[in-house]
Amino acid sequence: MDKDEILKLKNIKKRNTIATLQLLRRLDKVSRVELVELLKCDGATITRITASLLKKGIVKRAGSKSSDGGRPRENIQLDANYRYAIGIELDANFITGVAVDLKGKILKHETLQLGEQRNRKEFLKILDKITTHCLEFCDRKKLLGIGVAAFGTFANENKTLESVADFHALENFNITDFFTRKYGIVPEISDTTTAHANYITGSGICRNSGLSLLFCLGRGIGCVPLVDSKITFSKYSHSGEFGHTIIDIDGVLCNCGRRGCLEAIASSLSMAKQLNLNDLPDIRRFPEVVKRYTENDSIAVKVVKSAARTLGIAIANQVNSLMPDEVLLTGELLKLGDPFFELIRETVYEYAFPAFSRNLVFSNCGTGENHVVIGVGALLIDRLFQNFE
Ligand SMILES: [Zn+2]
Repeated sequence: MDKDEILKLKNIKKRNTIATLQLLRRLDKVSRVELVELLKCDGATITRITASLLKKGIVKRAGSKSSDGGRPRENIQLDANYRYAIGIELDANFITGVAVDLKGKILKHETLQLGEQRNRKEFLKILDKITTHCLEFCDRKKLLGIGVAAFGTFANENKTLESVADFHALENFNITDFFTRKYGIVPEISDTTTAHANYITGSGICRNSGLSLLFCLGRGIGCVPLVDSKITFSKYSHSGEFGHTIIDIDGVLCNCGRRGCLEAIASSLSMAKQLNLNDLPDIRRFPEVVKRYTENDSIAVKVVKSAARTLGIAIANQVNSLMPDEVLLTGELLKLGDPFFELIRETVYEYAFPAFSRNLVFSNCGTGENHVVIGVGALLIDRLFQNFE
């Protein structure tokens, strides 16, 4: 056998091992026969892979169930406690930290709000507090690392923050440097939209094949293309700034300094601003929008409908550009309920080319609480699986 063939076989083995681990992460107990069916591999391959995973301790035996008349089948399952990951979500209002097991189950959760005087010193103090608490919780020998989901754009591979429209005091904050210096850990960093997308792909919510566009709708608005259920990363693993695409050139001023951005019209905060809720603490503004909208307050209905139409047009533009098989919506804005989702959907079908919308699957993935922190922690779990020999 020549070198190329050995390499090819090694790659196939690695791919099958990753696929087995990813599947075990989503499922509970499963027999080898079921794995053969689900992974479309031959029995000998699955027996070899599971024996190796059992030996290394990442997979454990989990009793047996009897098949129809045949001999009982032994079940196996992922040992979720084999390793842990920490996920941290940075937001202009709060910082959340979690410790998750290999199946994404939250073992520790802590959120701290920033006070009304939001400055860099306070932000870093809270970030340190949350990180320290998460590190204290975890057995360091089992810790895979720290994943950080950040907002703003990244200026370089170190993920130095730039164009932080929602929190200008964080300009030039070097995330890698902060974690390396303070805790001796080089973090895995992504933007919050990508972290959300990683939750969606890890949970098997999107299609396995073709192009899916995931739209995260909240205080920020983001879009990530998923090809065959894999995130397509752009430069510095950032998903871009869909929320700052310009919808109305003469429109209202956006936090980024330009006019008429999608976020300046249709984000949770911009809706609150249009309802003159700026006197409320930041965290109470969007819940008040939801309350007034569901109580049929005429101005709230007008503002929310206008935001839904604008989002629908922006999404239709993406559909016309990229011709996806599937559109997935998630995020805080979906707290506005089914009529809001339906109006976005109708608008997309109104403006997308019929050939592109005819077989388009359009799904509501829910409001996505904790998806960002679990998703960013899962970046470390993905890395473990990728390198599992
Ligand atoms: Zn903007």
